[in-house]
Amino acid sequence: MLLLLIHMKIVILLGAPGSGKGTMAERLSSQDPVFRHLSSGSMLREAVSNQTRAGRLAEGAMKRGELVSDELIAEMIKDTILGIEGECTLLLDGFPRTVAQAAILDQMIESCGAQLWAVVWLDVDEEDLVDRIVGRRVCLGCGAGYHIETILPEKDGVCDLCGEALVARKDDNLETIRHRLSVYKASTMPLIDLYRSRGLLRRVMSAGAINETVELVKNALG
Ligand code: ADP
Ligand code: ZN
Repeated sequence: MLLLLIHMKIVILLGAPGSGKGTMAERLSSQDPVFRHLSSGSMLREAVSNQTRAGRLAEGAMKRGELVSDELIAEMIKDTILGIEGECTLLLDGFPRTVAQAAILDQMIESCGAQLWAVVWLDVDEEDLVDRIVGRRVCLGCGAGYHIETILPEKDGVCDLCGEALVARKDDNLETIRHRLSVYKASTMPLIDLYRSRGLLRRVMSAGAINETVELVKNALG
């Protein structure tokens, strides 16, 4: 009998900008080390701040609120996913974001013997999304997410985890946000039907308090 050892379960966190993908991934991975968080947006922001080749290629599109190319994302994510060792549940935050990226992920999963476990769709009203994004702050050091009303650091403007400064992201301004939401609808929402048809979609209404949503996500993964 062929015994397949699945060392890695993959969970895709799907949702609009501001839906709480990063926040959920941070909470889950801080509660249980089996969870690992991979954020394509944080990887890109780090690449931009280090001015790597990928960072220079991605910078313009990110500022405008457009997607960077599927090839660039695939190249960046691939080594990270294939390099993960040990048993874990990998929380994908921000990838895949297009149907083409979903196909790229399927190939990666096949070549590393992982299993696509579930796709959690964080569903939020559009007006709530804009409020959440406008108040969002991010740590310059470790990328941790905060919010001026709902996720406050202990010391004003300073990250609890690493002590670096908290800033608003360059793409979190009203004009860019509207554009990012339309890009989400056109390019990412088709993934909802795709994964629903594969029986993997778990819809979570992400309107309440953060702790409540964390519990809903855990139940959806159960
Ligand atoms: P949000 O979900 O709030 O829009 P992210 O941090 O996930 O923020 O992404 C920020 C930006 O990085 C996106 O607007 C896009 O330009 C780029 N990006 C992140 N992930 C991807 C991806 N999988 N494919 C293409 N572009 C991406
Ligand atoms: Zn930090």
